[in-house]
Amino acid sequence: MSEKVTVASDWLAGCAGCHMSFLDIDERIVQLLEVVQLRATPITDLKHPDEGGVDVGILEGAVANSSTEEVARRMRARCKTLIALGDCAVFGGIPAMRNAVTTAGALQRAYVESESTVDGVVPRHEDLAVMQDVRPVDQVVPVDIYLPGCPPSADAIFYVLSELVQGRQPKLRGKYLDWH
Ligand code: SF4
Repeated sequence: MSEKVTVASDWLAGCAGCHMSFLDIDERIVQLLEVVQLRATPITDLKHPDEGGVDVGILEGAVANSSTEEVARRMRARCKTLIALGDCAVFGGIPAMRNAVTTAGALQRAYVESESTVDGVVPRHEDLAVMQDVRPVDQVVPVDIYLPGCPPSADAIFYVLSELVQGRQPKLRGKYLDWH
């Protein structure tokens, strides 16, 4: 195991905005990389956390189907500390609005009833993920740190990672939850 704190991130049902906010820590990422080794992320070649595990796992987005559930369970199994990053991961966020119309209703609307669709059918194939009601991450796997926001600010993300690297538990209140 590297002496640096190893970090992996992945995304579920979301918009990538939380990862964009992560990148917004700008030049502080250089400071962070002195003590952190970024392993798998959606924006690197390595996509999945190491089988041997990482110290910190970060999940953006909500669990919305069998595929995102698998990603969430894999990250939980392979990290010591799991961060739910952003409102979608913490609360279900915007993707959870789909729950109001049921998964069958959403598929029908998207593939059959949309104004631009002609002779649409709901796709079915064994290789396709099975849609589920949208759930926040902690309804599927235990979460250690909740970092809400849509997206969380770069300052908040940097704060959380900096605290974890120094072996401290981040205290998310005040300015880190009041950035709008
Ligand atoms: S919390 Fe907001 S920014 Fe993050 S994935 Fe969800 S919609 Fe996008």
